[in-house]
Amino acid sequence: MKISFNGQLDDVEQGIVQLRDELHKNPPGNGSAKQVELALLGALDNMQLAKQAWDWPKPTTEAPNQETLEEWLFGDGACEATDSCIVEPDGVCPHGHPSWLRKLGLI
Ligand SMILES: [Zn+2]
Repeated sequence: MKISFNGQLDDVEQGIVQLRDELHKNPPGNGSAKQVELALLGALDNMQLAKQAWDWPKPTTEAPNQETLEEWLFGDGACEATDSCIVEPDGVCPHGHPSWLRKLGLI
């Protein structure tokens, strides 16, 4: 069987949405419906992050060194994207390249 990464993520996402519907119809009797729902929503967010990261284009510049990364992390709110555009530290440039901080999972 051939696995399509993004297709599988869509399936997982669908499954989580169904679980959430089910939760609304049949909440657990122990009063933890809210916690379950929050966890499911977090899982949905993470699925979206995974799909985005899968589609990010290949970096066109060298990865920055530790010192530069720290400047971006603790600096004035500007950061380089993986194609050297200037973006917000958690941003993606108009060409679809994520900031290095995002790419490296630092924020
Ligand atoms: Zn760019």
